[in-house]
Amino acid sequence: MKVLIAGGGIGGLAAALSIARNGHRAVVLERAAAFTELGAGIQLGPNAFHALDRLGIGPAARACAVHVDALRFMDGTTGEQVVSMPLTGAYRARFGNPYAVVHRGDLYQALLDGCAAHPGVTLSANRAVTGYEQTPAGVTALLDGGERVTGEVLVGADGIRSAVRERLLGDGPPRVSGHTIYRSVIPMERVPAELRWNSVTLWAGPRWHFVHYPIGRGELFNLAVTLDDGAPEVVTGRPAGRGHVLARFPGLGGTARRLLELGADWKEWVLCDRDPVDRWTDGRVALLGDAAHPMLQYAAQGACMALEDAVLLGDLLAGAGDDVPQRLEKYQAERRERAAGAQRVARALGERLYHPAGEEAAARNAMLSSLTVDDLHDKVAWLHGARVGGTGGPR
Ligand SMILES: Cc1cc2nc3c(=O)[nH]c(=O)nc-3n(C[C@H](O)[C@H](O)[C@H](O)COP(=O)(O)OP(=O)(O)OC[C@H]3O[C@@H](n4cnc5c(N)ncnc54)[C@H](O)[C@@H]3O)c2cc1C
Repeated sequence: MKVLIAGGGIGGLAAALSIARNGHRAVVLERAAAFTELGAGIQLGPNAFHALDRLGIGPAARACAVHVDALRFMDGTTGEQVVSMPLTGAYRARFGNPYAVVHRGDLYQALLDGCAAHPGVTLSANRAVTGYEQTPAGVTALLDGGERVTGEVLVGADGIRSAVRERLLGDGPPRVSGHTIYRSVIPMERVPAELRWNSVTLWAGPRWHFVHYPIGRGELFNLAVTLDDGAPEVVTGRPAGRGHVLARFPGLGGTARRLLELGADWKEWVLCDRDPVDRWTDGRVALLGDAAHPMLQYAAQGACMALEDAVLLGDLLAGAGDDVPQRLEKYQAERRERAAGAQRVARALGERLYHPAGEEAAARNAMLSSLTVDDLHDKVAWLHGARVGGTGGPR
C-alpha cells in the first residue's frame, strides 16, 4: 500500500518509519520548506525508548541522550527539595529502559536518518495538505495549490492545528491554556559546576514553575519557565528579552534564580491543548500525535505518545488490504484511552502540583514527601512502563 502522511514532525517521521518497516510505502507530505525540528529539550520516558527500539533507532537516540538520575521536585518559594524520584536502579529494572533528556534536533535527526535509510520512505517538503477526499478503494490528499496525491491510507500527523483533523472532526481551533512559557538553551560551561545536576529539576511556585535539565550529550543546559498569566492568544517562539523574563518571576529566588539569570536568547510561547475526543478515524484516514491528542507538556509525554501511536499504527497496518478502515478503528480503540489519560494528567499536574499557592502548596508538599520510592514509581508506571506494540524488540 501507499500510505500518505501529512506532517513530518516527530510523529509523522516515526509513522513513516513504522509503516515502511511493516512493508508499505510511506510518503510524508510536509508543509515546511525543509524537514527540521525547532525547539529545545525534550524528556523521553522508558515508553518512548521502547517505541524507538521498535523503530530501529533506539541506539541512535540513546547515543545522543542524557540519562538522568532523578526527577526532582523543589518548592520554589522555600528553595527546599520536596521529593526526588530516582530513575536509576529499581526504576530502570522495572521499566526496562532509561528516562532521558535529548535535544529535539538530535531526536529528530535520528528519525530522519532512519527514514532516509529506508527505501520505503519518501520525504516531500513544501507540500501543505488542506483536506482529503476518499472512496471505498482509496484516499486523496488535497494540497495547497491544487495538487492531489492518492494512496490507500492517509495519516494526519500535522500537529495541533491539523488540517486533516479539521476535515475529519471540524472541532475548530485548540484551547489556549493561558500559560506563557519562556525557553532558553545555553552552553553547560556557563552553569556553575556545583549546579550541574544530572536530573530534571522542577521548582514549583504560586502560578509558576521552572524546569531545567542537561541536553546535547551534557554539553547544553535547557531552561523552561512557565507562568499562569491568563495569556489570551497563541504565541509561538517570539523572542523575549532577558530583563522581561526575569521581571516576570519576582518570587523565584535563591538557587533557582541563579540558574534563571543564566538564560539568554529567550523565546516565548503561549501553549494550547484540546480535550480528548472519541474519534480519530474516518474510513481510510487516521490522526496521530498532536493532531489526535494535543496535551500540555507538563507530563512530558506528547512526543512519547506520538512515538507509541506510530509503532502501533505500523503494526496494525502490516498485511492490510481492503480492511484498512477496520484496522484504523482498532488503532483508535487501542490508543484513545491511553492518550486521553495523558492529556488529562498533563492538565492536572499543572493545576494540582506545579502551580498551587499557600495552604494548597503546603498540602501538596506534605503529600509528595510522604511517598516512598516505590509509591512514586507506582504512580508513573501506567505512563512510563507501557510497551506499546508488544515486547518484540527491534524488528
Ligand atoms: C514547551 C513544550 C515542551 C514539551 N516537552 C515535551 C517532553 O518533554 N516530552 C514529550 O514527550 N513531549 C513534549 N512536548 C510535546 C511534543 O513536542 C509534541 O507532542 C510532539 O512534538 C508532537 O509531534 P507531532 O509530530 O504530532 O506534531 P508537530 O511536532 O507539531 O509536527 C507537525 C508537523 O506537521 C507539519 N504540518 C502542519 N500542518 C501541515 C499541513 N497542513 N500539511 C503538511 N504538513 C503540516 C508541521 O510543519 C510539522 O512539521 C512538549 C511540547 C512543548 C510545546
